[in-house]
Amino acid sequence: MLIDNHNRKINYLRLAVTDRCNLRCNYCMPSEGINFAKNNKLFTIEELVKLSEIVVSQGIDKIRITGGEPFVRKDLMVLLRKLAVLNGLNDISITTNATLIGPYISELKQLGITNINVSLDAINKETFNKITRRDTYDTVYSNLIKLISEGFNVRINFIVLDGQNTEDIISILELMKHYNVSIRFLEEMPFNGGSKEFSTIKWDYKSIFNHIKTAFPKIEKLESPATSTSINYKIKGHKSTFGLIPSFSRTFCGSCNRLRISATGDVITCLYAKPSNNLRAILREGNSDEAVKQQILKAVGSRAKTGFEAQKKYDGIFSNSMTSIGG
Ligand code: SAM
Ligand code: SF4
Repeated sequence: MLIDNHNRKINYLRLAVTDRCNLRCNYCMPSEGINFAKNNKLFTIEELVKLSEIVVSQGIDKIRITGGEPFVRKDLMVLLRKLAVLNGLNDISITTNATLIGPYISELKQLGITNINVSLDAINKETFNKITRRDTYDTVYSNLIKLISEGFNVRINFIVLDGQNTEDIISILELMKHYNVSIRFLEEMPFNGGSKEFSTIKWDYKSIFNHIKTAFPKIEKLESPATSTSINYKIKGHKSTFGLIPSFSRTFCGSCNRLRISATGDVITCLYAKPSNNLRAILREGNSDEAVKQQILKAVGSRAKTGFEAQKKYDGIFSNSMTSIGG
């Protein structure tokens, strides 16, 4: 079992399988993209399987596949088929922009992969196109509805962007009210060269809540698991639920159970922390599984207590893009 230096059990890995993406969400990366890693700096599928086996042997029982856009990797299903039969791995989840998932939906279901987070920051097509800088709304929406109808456990991630999509907050709740889905509103984090200070964030989780409460006064708070990053609610008469994720306010660090591995193999023990050791290099140098385990233990043994503490030590954090970290 992995226990960090603040006595938190780590059982959840967010694994970025690529830094490439077919969209260019303006809060995530610039229109021209980022300096994408060379192909040989990304893990091969065999390496991702090996790494997953090692972390699962250390007590990780949940892996979320993220990116970049996971489905831009043509060999993604090869990885998912292997993970689906990995003993000890109880939960495989995927975070996707849902542009390319369509052809794989039935196989995902067969593999028992049911937890899918879909990023959808607008339901107004024009707003969606402006934010993502691509014209894929119809495909995303149709895949989203297909996933929900097929019985997947779908959560929509909606980043609240001041001056861009706040008009869609109430509309998406209305649109989804008859569906079995959770809509999670996330605070924007100033990644990708942003220079915003925490004190200036307008749409923090409290103001998002107040905004929703004005339109829907009958809101009930739901019980959430201790390790959940979202505070969850139900609006009276709605089948859907909604959640607020204080990504920037960071109210959830005390129960953080997660570890990240970036697309190029960096171990990231907190979204706000400087990446530590690189596992790709260690795997490729032909080291034993034990050597990889030791590196993971080293990283887990020196985690910051909170995202604020991590950020104090690392002022380069916001010049990164989430596309290599995986969100
Ligand atoms: N491409 C996939 C997607 O968009 O779902 C997976 C990777 S994306 C980097 C993972 C998550 O990070 C998405 O939900 C995205 O909205 C979120 N994200 C990216 N940049 C962010 C930012 N600046 N602030 C908050 N969340 C961000
Ligand atoms: Fe791509 Fe996801 Fe970043 Fe949007 S948030 S650009 S879909 S990686």
